[in-house]
Amino acid sequence: MRPTARPLRHLLLAAGAGVVLLAPAAQARQAPADDGLTDAVAAATSAIEGRVVEWRRHLHEHPELGFAETNTAAYVADRLRAMGMEVRTGVGRTGVVAILKGDLPGSRVVALRSDMDALPVLEATGLPFASKATGTYQGQTVPVAHACGHDAHMAMLLGAAQVLSGMKDRFGGTIVFIFQPAEEGAPPGEPMGGAALMIHEGALKDPAPEAIFGIHVVPGKTGTLFYRPQGFMAASDRVDITLNGRQTHGAWPWRGVDVIAASSQVVNTINTLTARTVDPTTTPTVFTISTINAGVRYNIIPDKSVMSGTLRTFDVDQRNALVERARAAVDHVAHIYGATSEFSIFQNAALVYNDPPLSQWLAPVLVEAAGAENVNPASPPTTVAEDFSFFQQQIPGVFYHLGGSKTGVDPADSAPNHSPQFDVDESVLPVGVRAHVLTALRFLQRP
Ligand SMILES: [Zn+2]
Ligand SMILES: [Zn+2]
Repeated sequence: MRPTARPLRHLLLAAGAGVVLLAPAAQARQAPADDGLTDAVAAATSAIEGRVVEWRRHLHEHPELGFAETNTAAYVADRLRAMGMEVRTGVGRTGVVAILKGDLPGSRVVALRSDMDALPVLEATGLPFASKATGTYQGQTVPVAHACGHDAHMAMLLGAAQVLSGMKDRFGGTIVFIFQPAEEGAPPGEPMGGAALMIHEGALKDPAPEAIFGIHVVPGKTGTLFYRPQGFMAASDRVDITLNGRQTHGAWPWRGVDVIAASSQVVNTINTLTARTVDPTTTPTVFTISTINAGVRYNIIPDKSVMSGTLRTFDVDQRNALVERARAAVDHVAHIYGATSEFSIFQNAALVYNDPPLSQWLAPVLVEAAGAENVNPASPPTTVAEDFSFFQQQIPGVFYHLGGSKTGVDPADSAPNHSPQFDVDESVLPVGVRAHVLTALRFLQRP
């Protein structure tokens, strides 16, 4: 893995950041190649639409947490084998890699990726195939649900695999299908998440893809595809801070070291630091302290305070500078109070950096899949993160979003990813299948 991602110098923040569709940019209007492939893919996709829905519902009803996707991986691998593919399992614990070679001459290699993991969420969609599953998270039995749409991602990529395996006589080169575990971050105690582990275990070798593409369903106008070149989704860091003081009576704070007072200073300092040192018009940045755990009784000042939070950034250099400032600030605040501090940072996901030339190339291909009025290749950035970014540190790639809000529902009113009510309009599944298929085929046709 490269030690640092590419720096992002000129990120322009469009007004009204979010997932609402903007007018398509000029490059999305280019005419697709007229070789009959668009129609052939549309027909082949329609023919398997029912199966894609069936796969999605099965996977939705049987979700599994990160690195526990045993049944999920077996389900996916069985279907890929039935399509006649060469399938490798256990790549990054539960990851699956399938390889499809075309019958025509060609040496290009392209990868398509889906994630597989679900979340510790109690589903409240009311769907007939809603999850009743449980899993183990941090030693606790928890409800599990596909509250981030990874069930839809798997079904769409399986659908693409099905279509492409029936079109081998129409392409040359190799397509690598990557089904990745643990996208939602490394489970507690694990050194890395699914993308990093799959790369570590050779998912991008034998054959080595030249480029990689992935889709995520999010609230957005039904069936629309949107992304932006360069920084699209934030880098996500987990921050852990511990302050060590000296326990004392609440009535005698001067006889100890008050970590409660120091903790409140740390939160204020970090918030102010972000707001006062980052240009919000060029690099959106969020630094949030989300948990503070300290103390047991109203009249005892404890000896320890443990805090955690998240840092979301769009520029590698700026992120590194902010981390160093925060580390120093925490240390100084602790020092003023006579406490000591520990500061650690763990990168869950790097910046989702969409390769600019590849982003430009992709727009007309997505127009073939979804129609010009449904493609926006100049979407605003979003502060959610994705470990697809780790693949993009290895090879150029583009990650794009698929609007999955129910037809006629304002995306702003539809349940966000990770909420108990999150759901995907199944009419968007064929759009994702066509997008994957055409991306692979058009990439392999590149001179
Ligand atoms: Zn998620
Ligand atoms: Zn997700």
